[in-house]
Amino acid sequence: MRVTTPKIRSAVASLPAYVPGARIPDGVQAFKVSSNENPYPPLPSVVDAITEAALTVNRYPDMGNTEMTDALAAFLSTPEREVSAERLAFGTGSVAALGHILSTFVDEGDEVVFPWRSFEAYPIVTSVAGGKSVRVRLTPDHRLDLDAMVEAVTDRTRVVLVCTPNNPTGTAVSHSQVLRFLHRIPDDVIVVLDEAYVEFVRKDDALDALALADQFPNVVVLRTFSKAYGLAGLRVGYVIAHPDIAAGIRAASTPFGVNLVAQVAVVASLRAADELNARVDALIDERTRVWTALRELGWDVPPSQANFVWFPTGTRTEELAAHARTRGLLVRPFAGEGIRVTIGEPEANDVLLELAAEWLTQ
Ligand code: PMP
Repeated sequence: MRVTTPKIRSAVASLPAYVPGARIPDGVQAFKVSSNENPYPPLPSVVDAITEAALTVNRYPDMGNTEMTDALAAFLSTPEREVSAERLAFGTGSVAALGHILSTFVDEGDEVVFPWRSFEAYPIVTSVAGGKSVRVRLTPDHRLDLDAMVEAVTDRTRVVLVCTPNNPTGTAVSHSQVLRFLHRIPDDVIVVLDEAYVEFVRKDDALDALALADQFPNVVVLRTFSKAYGLAGLRVGYVIAHPDIAAGIRAASTPFGVNLVAQVAVVASLRAADELNARVDALIDERTRVWTALRELGWDVPPSQANFVWFPTGTRTEELAAHARTRGLLVRPFAGEGIRVTIGEPEANDVLLELAAEWLTQ
């Protein structure tokens, strides 16, 4: 028998592990607030659609995602602005869609600029695509430093990733800031506006990414059905871009990447958008309650525009996360930096507030 195995590309062999949010062990009463999921189960109408679709999974899904694409195009279109189907591309979650974007634009050794700390998949998908990660530090108050990101762009830069609201700090950049930023980025560089949490944004001068995508052909908007729409387990993300760019991304995508059940669940969710948006509003009310209480306790928690809050706990991170686990709250620690906690159902948020008071005295 041969003892050696073929060599794994060094870019892949050296990848950091993607750390998923902690899972709840069987039989343990706990709240999982570690992965920014929606705490509410799918609506009955969505479950009905999924159940019916399950009867036909011996067949491949529609490769062109036609019904889902048309439903999403109609959903995103307004009387002032039409989003045509040819501007959309999909992935097995927005993380896969991001991989397709990078495969479309990044050659070996090209640079991908992104904020850091931000979504932990960025350096992974960059390396897999053969690119070089250029990390730009957040400002001391946990915001994207768009000026520093402009300065990090070189003639090797092919893609810049703007995560807003930023995972894990929750801060969001404004429309006017992004507009100024785009004017300073060369037009042959793709700017991905990663809006995984866009439905949770409630602020003045909020980013209107679709307006910018109309204005700048190098803007690619990345969104997901995992968060506000509660379909994390089915894995559907999407891209809105110029038709030529979207066609390139579709060409680089995994064939049949969005499965048959997922496609049907998306269509059913778009039909139930009002009900789902009411849940988002309830989560935003909870976010306000939690954030206000944390500030009153004295926590320096940055204002969150997402469905999570960020505790800058530094060297105490691991200890405090372990303490939370003993109390049934599974949070997401970033060693030496801080703890991200998803806004969950009110009962989970109450446990968080109790813990946050205890953490101050520990
Ligand atoms: N972008 C950001 C900023 C995220 O936080 C996440 C999920 N944690 C994703 C993209 C990917 O989500 P999904 O693949 O479930 O669409």
